[in-house]
Amino acid sequence: MLQGLQSTTILTNGVEMPWVGLGVFKVQDGEEVVSSVKAAVEVGYRSIDTAAVYGNEDGVGQAIAESNIPREELFITTKVWNADHGYEATLAAFDVSMKKLGLDYLDLYLIHWPLPSQGKYMETWKALERLYKDGRVRAIGVSNFKIHHLEDIIANCEIKPMVNQVEYHPRFNQRELHAFCKKHGIQLEAWSPLMQGGLFEEPVLVEIAKKYNKSVAQIIIRWDIQNEVVTIPKSVKPHRIAENANVFDFELSHEDMDKINALNTDERMFADPDDFSRV
Ligand code: NAD
Repeated sequence: MLQGLQSTTILTNGVEMPWVGLGVFKVQDGEEVVSSVKAAVEVGYRSIDTAAVYGNEDGVGQAIAESNIPREELFITTKVWNADHGYEATLAAFDVSMKKLGLDYLDLYLIHWPLPSQGKYMETWKALERLYKDGRVRAIGVSNFKIHHLEDIIANCEIKPMVNQVEYHPRFNQRELHAFCKKHGIQLEAWSPLMQGGLFEEPVLVEIAKKYNKSVAQIIIRWDIQNEVVTIPKSVKPHRIAENANVFDFELSHEDMDKINALNTDERMFADPDDFSRV
C-alpha cells in the first residue's frame, strides 16, 4: 500500500511527482488561494497545480514562501496559456510565471492546451525543451493532448513529454489515451478528478463509499491512484482538503475498481481539445 501524501510516481527522467496534489483552478488570488495552499501544506500536501490563466500564481508563491517548507520538498506545476504559444512568447511567459511564483526553478511546466487551430504547439514544446535543458524546470509536459497530438510531438521532439494532464474521472476514463501514455512513459494526470462535484450522488460510488467508510471524493481519489493516475482535486475548505488526502489507509478491491471503471460513458464534461481555441 502507498504510504501517505508524500508518496510519488517517478517520471521518465527520475523526478519524483506526488500522486496527490492540490488544484487551484477558480481559486481567487490573495487570501483564498494563500489560505488553501497553506491548509494543504499543513496536512502534508507537497504538490500544487496552478496555471498562468488561473490568475493566482502570486498567491501560490506567497503561500509557498510563508509555509517554510524546504523548496526541494515541494512540487509546483504551472502552465503556459494559449495566448503565449510560440517559442519566444513561451519563454517570456515562463519568466512572468516564475516572477509571480517567486521561484528560481519550477518542478513541472505544461502546455495548457494543444490549440491545433494555431499550429504552434511544436514551437511551444521547443521552448519547454530549452527551459528544461537550461535547468529552469525539472520536468516538462503537456495538458489536454490527444493521441494524435502526442504522436506529432513524439515524432518531432528531442525530449518526450513526461506528463499529460487531462480530463479524467469515472465518467471519462480515457482508456486508450492512458494506454498510449503508459507505452511512451508519459505519466497521466487527472484534472477535474471529482467531475467538479458532479459524482457525489452516483449510486455505485455512494455504495462503495459506505462499504469502506469513506466519502465518495476519497473513493474517486483512491481509484485514480490505483489506476496509476496522478490526481489534483480542488477545494478551498480545509476539512475537505484534509479529507481528499486521507486516502492512504485503505485499498479498493479489484471488483470495486472494475465497478468504478464501468461508470465510464466516454463523455467529456469540457471541450474537446481539437476544438478548444480560447486565447
Ligand atoms: P474537481 O473535480 O477537483 O472538483 C472540485 C470541486 O469539488 C470543489 O470546488 C468542491 O465543490 C468539490 N469538492 C472537492 N472536494 C470535496 C469533498 N471532499 N467533498 C465534497 N465536495 C468536494 O475540479 P477542478 O477544480 O476542475 O479540477 C481540479 C484541478 O485540476 C483544478 O483545480 C486545476 O488545478 C486542474 N484543472 C486543469 C485543467 C486543464 O485544462 N489542465 C482543467 C480543469 C482543471
